[in-house]
Amino acid sequence: MHKLSRFTWLLLVSSLLFGCQQPQQEVKQEIKQKFVERKSAAYLEQEYAAMRAEQIRDVSYQLTMNLDEKSDAYSGEIIIDFTLAKENLSPVTIDFNSGKVSAVYLNNQAVNFIYEQYFIQLAPEVFKQQKNTLRIEFEHAYSRAGDGLHRYQDPQTGKVYLYSNFEPYNANKMFPHFDQPNIKASYLLSVLAPVDWQVISAQRESSVSEESGKKRWTFPITPKIPSYIFPLHAGPYKVWEDKSGSVPLRLFARQEIAQYVQPEEWFTFTQQSFDFFNQYFEIEYPFGKYDQLVVPDFNSGAMENLGAVTFNEIYVGRGVKTRLERFRHANVISHELAHMWFGNLVTMDWWNGLWLNESFATYMSYLQMSKNSEFTDDSWGLFYNNMKQWAYTTDQQVTTHPIELPVANTAEAFTNFDGITYGKGASVLKQLAYYVGEENFRKGVASYLKKYSYSNTELSDFMNEVALFGNLDLTGWTQEWLYQAGLNTIQVEFACGDNHDVAPLSEFLIEQSAPADHPTLRTQKIELGFYQVDNSANQQSIYQTATLPVVYSGKKTALVIEKNMACPDFVYPNLNDMGYIKIALDKKSLNSVKQHLATFDSAMRTKLWQNLWDDVLDQRMPLTEYVQLLDTALVSDDPADVAATSVKMRLARDYFWQMRDDKNQFTKELSQLENISWRELQSAQTGGDIQKIWFDTYVQMVYSPAGLNRLADYLTGKQKVQGLVYDQDRRWATLIRLNNFQHKAAVSLTDKEKKKDTSDMGQQWSLISESTRPDAKIKANYFEKIIAKNQEYKLATSRLIMVNLFPANQITFRKSYTQSILLNIPMLHREQDERFMSSYMSGMLPRICTQEGVNQLSAASKEYGSLTPVIDRYLKIAVQEEQRCVNMKKLLLK
Ligand SMILES: [Zn+2]
Repeated sequence: MHKLSRFTWLLLVSSLLFGCQQPQQEVKQEIKQKFVERKSAAYLEQEYAAMRAEQIRDVSYQLTMNLDEKSDAYSGEIIIDFTLAKENLSPVTIDFNSGKVSAVYLNNQAVNFIYEQYFIQLAPEVFKQQKNTLRIEFEHAYSRAGDGLHRYQDPQTGKVYLYSNFEPYNANKMFPHFDQPNIKASYLLSVLAPVDWQVISAQRESSVSEESGKKRWTFPITPKIPSYIFPLHAGPYKVWEDKSGSVPLRLFARQEIAQYVQPEEWFTFTQQSFDFFNQYFEIEYPFGKYDQLVVPDFNSGAMENLGAVTFNEIYVGRGVKTRLERFRHANVISHELAHMWFGNLVTMDWWNGLWLNESFATYMSYLQMSKNSEFTDDSWGLFYNNMKQWAYTTDQQVTTHPIELPVANTAEAFTNFDGITYGKGASVLKQLAYYVGEENFRKGVASYLKKYSYSNTELSDFMNEVALFGNLDLTGWTQEWLYQAGLNTIQVEFACGDNHDVAPLSEFLIEQSAPADHPTLRTQKIELGFYQVDNSANQQSIYQTATLPVVYSGKKTALVIEKNMACPDFVYPNLNDMGYIKIALDKKSLNSVKQHLATFDSAMRTKLWQNLWDDVLDQRMPLTEYVQLLDTALVSDDPADVAATSVKMRLARDYFWQMRDDKNQFTKELSQLENISWRELQSAQTGGDIQKIWFDTYVQMVYSPAGLNRLADYLTGKQKVQGLVYDQDRRWATLIRLNNFQHKAAVSLTDKEKKKDTSDMGQQWSLISESTRPDAKIKANYFEKIIAKNQEYKLATSRLIMVNLFPANQITFRKSYTQSILLNIPMLHREQDERFMSSYMSGMLPRICTQEGVNQLSAASKEYGSLTPVIDRYLKIAVQEEQRCVNMKKLLLK
């Protein structure tokens, strides 16, 4: 799976951790005799799943599904052939969440069963020895929340589109079966569907025939695969076709957005990824065909269903994409394709292995793009901006956790789709490849995939192969990096002779520290970058003089310095971002940054702005000083750097709005942010990406009456930005801003736009525009809808409303709703599912930047933290963030 922008998860118990493994025989014996009672719950317990993996084996499914466009529910039948463990004494349970079971037959005879809400249960004594066949007739409602078998109906055309989405434990929301990754099974699928529909699964259909006014699609038997990647998508999707070598490629999207799809781009990115992975893994793509579908209401970025990957519709924009957006698109295609080998061909035994699955796909996608794409020079810089920052942020939260840890149940697995699982995992794999040598790493990976094809693995299986080809003992490395949480900081210390111009570097030391909660110090290989100021030109500038690879460990690592190495003015201790580390610049280097920031190359500048921003968050630099520096030292010559700046400006803006005690506070800084974006927009090259980014940033920064009038003029066409494509999504972004600040023309312009843009997205944006207005009645109305038991909107829409209902500048509403938002948590927990709760917790928790806010959130955290891991995690982070804002404000008012 691929998480969107601010993503999210994780873990295991391998033999590495516990030393010697018990002999296989003994383990099985013990499990067979142990009776594990199954809880009635929407999640699956690891302990139970482990027992069932011993109880049930050699599974194959014959699944028949009856689909139509009119009903809210579908019917189906599944035949399950399996072998039961000898002398089995435990009931057999078949996972099936919230469906209807009309009949169960065992070995061709009707059989008694119990079906509560989450699984079907049969007594052990009804089974034959060993081989058994179950046949279950069932019904289930289509999903509206994106999991199970999701049904979408387009508001414009009425057409219905279905897709499946299962990870980690949602396949049982579609059909009854054993829903766990280590019960791999083959699937024989047959689907009855409306005549104008496409039906897409893991393999191409073997036949399509007419049957009672519909079409019967039958598919060949699949190889043994885990349930969470089994796909079933259907609907009147439009299709495009191409090839990669001998592999047929197809792309699907709903007809209503087909005009915006650029199939050549999809296929080119896909083919480049195929070429790279076929070589890198030394295994030709093993699953015959490869389909990609763009689907509506999707909860994450994309999902690696076998040979039928689903993507969020954000990858089909309604305007012209920037290079960065095209990069993100290529990157997610690559990530999902990497999973076909790593995850789909070789699968984790249990969800503790999720991190390796996700980290690996993440690392591989950036690696592929750095080697075989049009983005070779951008790839690792964007890895730093995206994955690294996500990882560093998550690793500094109070809820951080080791990369590898036990996962008690699938609900915990769900919360582990986080910055540790994706960002930190990928960062340490990048470090590992550098540490053992990239070619050694590749050989280890290829060997691992060949050795364990079509089976399940644990972490030690992977580490052993990498260690073997790297010819290194990785036991210590694994302990430090995978089993311990936390982010270390390094700082360099150096001394030179007295006379700066001639005296060479004499001493050089790397000092490593760790946060008190996570005291582990680590070993890693990094590159030191040395820089000097060039005084010869009219304007001073700074340039790089040397790169020095070095392995450091422990508290202090002294370097042996070559003779006559010039005294540096600036040292960056993680030059090509090989290390996973926070950097505290030494005093001399920090001074050089403040003086020469604008003259660094753009890749280094991005990192230095990030360093300064970290200083703001850690309360070492006042936020006002950062904005002042932006005003004087900003250089807009690299879209990736400008995009990173834009993110920080949005955060800075929200901090200022939250910190305001009265109308006049921080108006200087808020105006500065608006003015900087306007100034940079004016000087950006016409029609270029930098212009697009600054325009979008400007819309987000505007709050002055003059600025708001200008936005209204863009909408009516009275003013234009030369060369900028003012597309439909930009129009809505402008409208949301106007509504947020109650511009006098906001309501009429929104009504007009709503009539013009009748697409699904248009209807959703018009709701957001309305909900964002600072009007007590509107707020009350939308808040009621969000917390209502029967949801009026599909989750995709509710989620957008949650994020936009209380913008930071409407702090009075935020404050007045704080208690209601918190008090409703237990009720929502009872009435809604985990997907809804994670949307509510990530979108609604109030940030008001006061001590009272800290107190209210802390009380809620104590009171409700025990409900679920999701609720616990979001509340703890909210307390920490609220306290940070309070502290940042104190620093400003000193
Ligand atoms: Zn993934």
